[in-house]
Amino acid sequence: MLDEKRSVEDDLDASVQEASSMLRTQLFMRISRPTPFRLAFAFLSSLWLFSAGLSSVGAASSNDSRTLQIFFVDVEGGQATLFVTPEKQSLLIDTGWPGNDGRDAERIVAAAKKAGITKIDFVLITHFHADHVGGLPQLAARIPIGTVIDHGDNRESTDAPTVQGWQAYQDLLATKKFKRLTVKPGDGLPIRGIQTTVISSDGAVIERPLPGAGQENASCKNAETYPIDQTENLRSLGTLITFGKLRILDLGDLTRDKEMQLVCPNNKLGAIDIYIVSHHGWGQSGSLPFLNAIAPRVAIMDNGAKKGGTPAAWDIIEKSPRLEDLWQLHFSEEGGAAHNVASEFIANLVGPDAGNYLQFTAWPDGSFSVFNSRTLNSKQYPRRK
Ligand SMILES: [Zn+2]
Repeated sequence: MLDEKRSVEDDLDASVQEASSMLRTQLFMRISRPTPFRLAFAFLSSLWLFSAGLSSVGAASSNDSRTLQIFFVDVEGGQATLFVTPEKQSLLIDTGWPGNDGRDAERIVAAAKKAGITKIDFVLITHFHADHVGGLPQLAARIPIGTVIDHGDNRESTDAPTVQGWQAYQDLLATKKFKRLTVKPGDGLPIRGIQTTVISSDGAVIERPLPGAGQENASCKNAETYPIDQTENLRSLGTLITFGKLRILDLGDLTRDKEMQLVCPNNKLGAIDIYIVSHHGWGQSGSLPFLNAIAPRVAIMDNGAKKGGTPAAWDIIEKSPRLEDLWQLHFSEEGGAAHNVASEFIANLVGPDAGNYLQFTAWPDGSFSVFNSRTLNSKQYPRRK
């Protein structure tokens, strides 16, 4: 009896949410220039949603059980990207900064709540810099974690915050609250609902091209030679995530010298649909031969107001051959008026820290949408023909 009641309530809840989703999809399907009529209509509709007890905040399709959800959490120039599969398995790539009264951990937990999960199955630490591993102890204190995946031991002993982050990780491992998994290029990760291939780890990269890739990369001719990075950055644990027809690339802060090994003389990666911009859009990553090789449809830059979005690196992304849109977590002060995208594509503008996020919703056929929690608008990207 109880079960029956719950199932009726669930159905009711689902249909109300679906109706709300449809309305929101119609309202916010396309980012378009607001007219007084549109603004008035959106305002009145929001009032209706509010009076019906429904939130108008949240991506239009978050209740579609076939989708992969990706939350780009704003950690002010670090990384924290949460993937939640249709099976509700979760992968968090990096944990943001330490300190700030647990600000970054709180924001990650808020994203997890929106995604309907109460545990993070896998936390992948790309490398041991403070803006990537720093938030792990605060996160572990707030939400259960299944397994932490890393590239192997920290090798950078000259940077105090990195040594502290590494030590804090060792202390957490000693509590045996979660498992540790160290991976190498070519490995897959045991996550249900998405396919993951390790591209780079601890300074090594895949030796053979991925299936379908391997074509000659014309932009390698006369390419610059980049200095070999001496920090944890070049050890970044990078992954290709495949969901149906969609290919998503995250290489952490992998530097240009390593990018060249991946795309020159032949492109081992192939074309990418969603590129999580390496290194917050700083110039030590994101070389021209690399961007020409992966040619993303959409790029998302996890920069802060004062960190990332270097004009030269931004230009290379913006001019890459197949790019439809670049999204940014912040307006980049370094970029100024000439090197930032239009405000609709930015989650946080100049002003007090609001912690707005971007949420991607992806379907197995290769289509996806991007929701900006600041504007409450979504933009649809139909599947590639
Ligand atoms: Zn970083």
